[in-house]
Amino acid sequence: MDSSALLKNYKAVSDGIPASVILVAVSKFQPAEALQTIYNAGQRIFGENRVQEMVEKKPLLPADIQWHCIGTLQTNKVKYIAPFVALIHSVDSLKLLTEINKQAQKNNRVIDCLLEIFIAQEETKHGLSFAEAEEILALQATLPHIRITGFMGMASNTANKDQVRAEFRTLSAFYLKLSPLYKLSTLSMGMSGDYKIAIEEGSTMVRVGSSIFG
Ligand SMILES: *Cc1c(COP(=O)(O)O)cnc(C)c1O
Repeated sequence: MDSSALLKNYKAVSDGIPASVILVAVSKFQPAEALQTIYNAGQRIFGENRVQEMVEKKPLLPADIQWHCIGTLQTNKVKYIAPFVALIHSVDSLKLLTEINKQAQKNNRVIDCLLEIFIAQEETKHGLSFAEAEEILALQATLPHIRITGFMGMASNTANKDQVRAEFRTLSAFYLKLSPLYKLSTLSMGMSGDYKIAIEEGSTMVRVGSSIFG
C-alpha cells in the first residue's frame, strides 16, 4: 500500500476511536517503512504477534515506540522481548507468567501483562477461563516482576454481531467486577472487524491491523 492510502486508513481508524480508547496498530507482516509512516503521523504503540518479527523491527524504528506482544508466546521466547516489551496481551498460563517474571527480574523490570481470556465459541481460539484467571490474579503477589493490568479477549470470527457483542459483554462484566480489587486499567478487545462493537461494550484498548495496513 502506498503511504498516502496508509495514512488515510490510519486517520480514519484513529479519528473514529474515542480519546479514552488506546489504539494498538497491529503491524505483523508489515515492513518497517509502513510502521514509520504512521509513526510520523503520531502512532506510538505497535502490536506484533511473532517475537522474531518484533525483535527484528525494533532496531529499525524510533526508540520511543511501545511494543506490544499480542500473539501466542512460547516460554522459550520470552527472554528476547523481556528487555523492552511494553505490554504482553497474551498470557494464557501460569507457567508463561512465571517465565515473564523471571526474565523481567533479570532485566530489572516490571512487565505489564494482560491475561488472555477465552470468550469465543470456537475451538481455534484459546485462553484462560474466568476461574483460571481469578486464580492467577490471586497469586500474582508472588511474582513481583509482573503486573497484571487487565484482560485480552477475542470474539468469535462470525458475521453474527449479536454473538460478538455478547462475548465482549461477558468479558467486560468480568473486568468491571475485578477492576477495583486488582486495580485493573486495560481491557484489550476488538480487531478490524469488531472494534466498534468492542468499544461500545467497554473496551479500553483495540488491536487494529488490516483496517490500517490493508
Ligand atoms: C492480527 C491480530 C489482530 C489484528 O487483526 P486485524 O483483523 O488485522 O485487525 C488483533 N489481535 C491479534 C491477537 C492478532 O493476531
